[in-house]
Amino acid sequence: MTIWCLGSVNADHFYRLPHLPAPGETLAASDYSRGLGGKGANMAVAAARGGAPVELVGAVGPDGLWMKARLADYGVSVRHLAESAEASGHAIISVDAAGENQITIYGGANRALEPARIDTAFAEAREGDIFVCQNETNLQRAGADIARSRGLRVVYAAAPFEVEAVRKMLDVADLLVLNAVEARQLQEATGLAPEALPVAGIVITLGADGVRWIDTKTGQSRDFPAVAVTAVDTTGAGDTFTGYLLAGLDRGLSMEAAIPLAAKAAALKVTRRGTADAIPSLSEVETWAP
Ligand code: ADP
Repeated sequence: MTIWCLGSVNADHFYRLPHLPAPGETLAASDYSRGLGGKGANMAVAAARGGAPVELVGAVGPDGLWMKARLADYGVSVRHLAESAEASGHAIISVDAAGENQITIYGGANRALEPARIDTAFAEAREGDIFVCQNETNLQRAGADIARSRGLRVVYAAAPFEVEAVRKMLDVADLLVLNAVEARQLQEATGLAPEALPVAGIVITLGADGVRWIDTKTGQSRDFPAVAVTAVDTTGAGDTFTGYLLAGLDRGLSMEAAIPLAAKAAALKVTRRGTADAIPSLSEVETWAP
């Protein structure tokens, strides 16, 4: 089966600065590095590193061909990653000497997907495949509707949290994945506790406190511990978790078996600096003895 990820691809540009710039100030960075990020790219890489066939549906600009090549190196199929005239999505991440950061994000090509692209891509999807999306592209709802009509399970990571985007997706999602902050924001926005939401299953990730899985059909919830590690960089932990969770479900694991494996993959990522580039492979996760 295939995991269809409709999502963003971003270039993360990191600049190390003596302090964060004040309005009007020009500052020289002492260090620069570039990495692959964006929630769509991260989840697609995690699912592929976790052993699943993955199709990434999205777009990069003329400046993003290196990202397309890198995704392919990580085992993600980029046949449906369009090359748009818009600049690629990117993040400018300034980090000061104390590790405090300031981030500017530009959606660019991620927000300019054409509906026809989605129709073409999903014409190949088959019943039993899994569809996953987040909030960093346009057309999430359209993509989810097509996926549903073709018999795919729809998984939705409600991040970054945007109340209107989330409201539009609730009645089409089979499984909702949220972190603790997003779960609280959703409860404030809808007035409903997670277990009362109209989706079949909810997974709430709780950082170092692990994972809660709520089966809304039975009303039962189950908690899973995190793997204890010394965190070096938690960016992309949630995306690594979600990609690995879907890869596990795709090869037939139960939620009870897929969640601990995904939590282990996310914990190993947290011990490494970087985003998509730092996501471990399945054999690394399996042999890692924390
Ligand atoms: P997000 O990155 O979306 O904010 P979380 O911080 O909840 O999501 O992290 C997702 C998952 O990654 C957690 O449920 C946990 O399994 C793992 N994880 C995150 N931070 C840590 C940590 N400090 N130690 C161990 N595991 C972690």
